[in-house]
Amino acid sequence: MTDLPPPPVKGCREAPVLREFGQREVFCGLTGIIWLHRKMQDAFFLVVGSRTCAHLLQSAAGVMIFAEPRFGTALLEEKDLAGLADANAELDREVDRLLARRPDIRQLFLVGSCPSEVIKLDLERAAERLNTRHAPKVRVASYTGAGTDTTFTQGEDTCLAALVPELDKTDARELVLVGALPDVVEDQALALLNAMGIGPVRSLPARRLEDMPAIGPNTVFALTQPFLGETHGQLIRRGARHIAAPFPFGEEGTTRWLRAIADEFGVPDDLFEKVTAAPRARARKAVAAHAEDLRGKSIFFLPDSQLEPALARFLTRECGMTAVEVGTPFLHRGIMGPDLDLLAEGPVLSEGQDVDRQLDRVRAARPDLTVCGLGLANPLEAEGLTTKWAIELVFSPVHFYEQAGDLASLFARPLNRKRLLKLEAA
Ligand code: SF4
Repeated sequence: MTDLPPPPVKGCREAPVLREFGQREVFCGLTGIIWLHRKMQDAFFLVVGSRTCAHLLQSAAGVMIFAEPRFGTALLEEKDLAGLADANAELDREVDRLLARRPDIRQLFLVGSCPSEVIKLDLERAAERLNTRHAPKVRVASYTGAGTDTTFTQGEDTCLAALVPELDKTDARELVLVGALPDVVEDQALALLNAMGIGPVRSLPARRLEDMPAIGPNTVFALTQPFLGETHGQLIRRGARHIAAPFPFGEEGTTRWLRAIADEFGVPDDLFEKVTAAPRARARKAVAAHAEDLRGKSIFFLPDSQLEPALARFLTRECGMTAVEVGTPFLHRGIMGPDLDLLAEGPVLSEGQDVDRQLDRVRAARPDLTVCGLGLANPLEAEGLTTKWAIELVFSPVHFYEQAGDLASLFARPLNRKRLLKLEAA
């Protein structure tokens, strides 16, 4: 990898971290259902929650009128919340009705919410009870997406972490890619690994229950998303080993991520170069087309998705931006360390949220671009700041070489729009 830029003299892995413990302004973990239900094609996500939870899901996903949706809400009514009804019996009836009507469902997730936590409805026990009734045809699991416990990307983490203990055991040496990527993007990664002779490769989550990976002491895994801390811990508890690497965002991130896996499997340099040369060149060209709009601009990340350190690394090293502050809800050094090594010292690193204090710092810095949640974007735009919605970075395909240009363009677009508006106003 001689043609990759060297790491900075001093990276951010050991940099001091400003820890914030104040009010949070992010979506809850239920949001993950939007991309998880697309990925897991025989799964159904049953949120045990209130009308608020149902509205969040419907507005985030768009109401699917013609399709048979693969998520829904078992509504907790006032009598449930007041403890006047047996919510467990109602849940069992609801699940029986659903599974009788939908024989295509092979995996059912009971998803906890703020209301189910308030009435202390034990969904883990409910899943065990329902499993004895519906296994082996349907596997029932539970996880929490409650806003009190999870930020919007953590829903995927709690979901995958709930799956790991149930996965079969194996002694086979296999690579598992962990994180729900759009199928077309996952296929690109599988094709590159396959061309290097690396395999068998499995995915967690798999598209269907029968393709879920088995885990054991010879399993090695690579994360495709940085927000999978709990899943990472569960896999290690099952004896699997993590291949630490920068995340596959941009040309450099993808090359270093692939190289770490290639090294694990003893892929020779010349084969690695042969497989990656053409897509790398395409990625470099695609990023360069947008980097001109980003070069020299400053960026401030409010803590939303846990993608922030990896994206800051991409934007500073491949697009010439300057990071003012890199906030992230949780800073997991075992997972984010390789990206922090490549992020040159300078930006404030912050973990957790205290929205008022962070907004004060944004206003003082007046960055060219602020990455933040939907709720903060409009007020900041009204103050003349340019913003990017963090959630878009999770909903859009942004991984690996073929999406590197799109990733850069997601950041360039708001800056270009601002420039055009200024030109029109002049
Ligand atoms: Fe709101 Fe909590 Fe339901 Fe999320 S889980 S929509 S934060 S009530």
